[in-house]
Amino acid sequence: MIPITVFAGKTVAVFGLGASGLLSARALAAGGAHVIAFDDSEAKLADAQAAGVTTQNLADLDWSQVAALVLAPGVPLTHPTPHWTAARARREGVEIIGDIELFCRERAASGLDCPLVAITGTNGKSTTTALTTHLLKSAGHDVQMGGNIGVPVLDLEPFATGRPYVVEVSSYQIDLAPSLHATVGILLNVTEDHLDRHGTMENYAAIKTLLAAGVEPGGAAVIGVDDRYTRAAADRIERAGKPVVRVSVLAPVRDGYYAEGTRIMRAVAGKAYPVAQLSGIGALRGQHNAQNAAAAVAACVALGMDLADIQKGLVSFPGLAHRMQQIGRKGKVLFVNDSKATNADSAAKALASFPDIFWIAGGKPKTGGIESLTAYFPRIRKAYLIGEAAPDFARTLEGKVPYEIVDVMSAAVDAAARDAAAADAAEPVVLLSPACASFDQYRNFEVRGKAFTDLVRAVPGINRQP
Ligand code: ADP
Repeated sequence: MIPITVFAGKTVAVFGLGASGLLSARALAAGGAHVIAFDDSEAKLADAQAAGVTTQNLADLDWSQVAALVLAPGVPLTHPTPHWTAARARREGVEIIGDIELFCRERAASGLDCPLVAITGTNGKSTTTALTTHLLKSAGHDVQMGGNIGVPVLDLEPFATGRPYVVEVSSYQIDLAPSLHATVGILLNVTEDHLDRHGTMENYAAIKTLLAAGVEPGGAAVIGVDDRYTRAAADRIERAGKPVVRVSVLAPVRDGYYAEGTRIMRAVAGKAYPVAQLSGIGALRGQHNAQNAAAAVAACVALGMDLADIQKGLVSFPGLAHRMQQIGRKGKVLFVNDSKATNADSAAKALASFPDIFWIAGGKPKTGGIESLTAYFPRIRKAYLIGEAAPDFARTLEGKVPYEIVDVMSAAVDAAARDAAAADAAEPVVLLSPACASFDQYRNFEVRGKAFTDLVRAVPGINRQP
């Protein structure tokens, strides 16, 4: 845990006592703050009390004594409507912050020699965070990884000389972190998502831009410029006099990094040279992963890593579970778990990455179904449909892609493995990329991915090291 000393002697209100809220309360108390915490749930209040945290209904608090309100992720700050604690804090002129802000202020006070890589974007955050961490770690750095990716930042090891931190930040957390001044700020992309939390697309894009715009002096703003929101952000930050490192997988850039086939090129004033090669790296297949990899490479170069170390790290990146994760091979057939693809957009990324696909799809349907995936249908040798979405998906595939309604995962794996083994293709792929939520048959996408993985690993003759 990182004790937060910057509020020592002051009163801080904390609302929302899930894992990271509770940790904020404990970290503040450990650093000498007077913490008063609250939650609507009796069970969470009891947990907090058991952990030694003082609780009190914040409605009864004397807010004139409060230095800050710390909101846990998930408590609405603005949309759809501000939580009552946020509205109250505003009325009382009390600042509202989150755990990333506590981390940043403590770093400014006592950990400035610790490089901070902060990563945001609509898609690819976790992959880029894990990859950047892996590259630093494999070059021998004592790196800490946290934030939205899993471990709350305040649960990481305390600041120590030169220790780098790689932190995945959601737009909600950026909203609550006005002092987020990273050494490297990565903004990957901005597409429509999470409008429920941020109102308009412009607002959502503006919040994400803050992470890159706020990099500390001498730091690097790394921006994927393949959509109009991030392109505008890069131009705006540059106009404000800050250097921008542009990343593109669609076209060469004059200054920055771009993909040329499977090579990552670096351009300086229009002159380009190769800095990394992604060919043969299973965990980084696909154009979307080239974007993630180029951004991670840019961050590591900005931190002073050398190219040979970066390439070595790329080759050994194991990838993240449930995101185009290669889980086994039998003969020439590759088995890939992409259970995280809970919508058609995500499934498109996987379908674009393989030429001969035996596709397991379906689950709890999302609006729009798989109409948007038509361009990828020629890559699909056959589809195996599970869950509630099966009849609807079958209607879309009718006459275009052979399919079978198999209802459940075990039947899908059996049939797909059998057909793929008999296929005339260099590398047939059995791909679970459901384009659906999992809730009709599974608790979440992780459980669904694990079910698929367990079934694949039980296939006779499977090699688990693809
Ligand atoms: P996040 O943490 O932002 O949700 P992940 O790294 O977990 O992103 O990837 C989730 C899914 O998003 C992947 O399975 C893939 O389908 C898609 N994806 C990953 N990287 C990108 C990217 N750079 N651009 C677009 N889509 C991506």
